[in-house]
Amino acid sequence: MRMERLAAEAHVAVRLANLEEVDILRRTMKERLRESFGIDHTELEFESAATSSHSRETIRQE
Ligand SMILES: [Zn+2]
Repeated sequence: MRMERLAAEAHVAVRLANLEEVDILRRTMKERLRESFGIDHTELEFESAATSSHSRETIRQE
């Protein structure tokens, strides 16, 4: 039997002001990571794009 478990950890910089929207985004991302990549454990950290300490190049601009 092959034991394999995929996990992902990511920081997500968002411009959403509403906690409900962040919740919906988190659920959507988890679903997509599971369905598309078989990742059954995700740790997502949400932070404000405006105050993120990451470099501008790291954050996709829209
Ligand atoms: Zn971060």
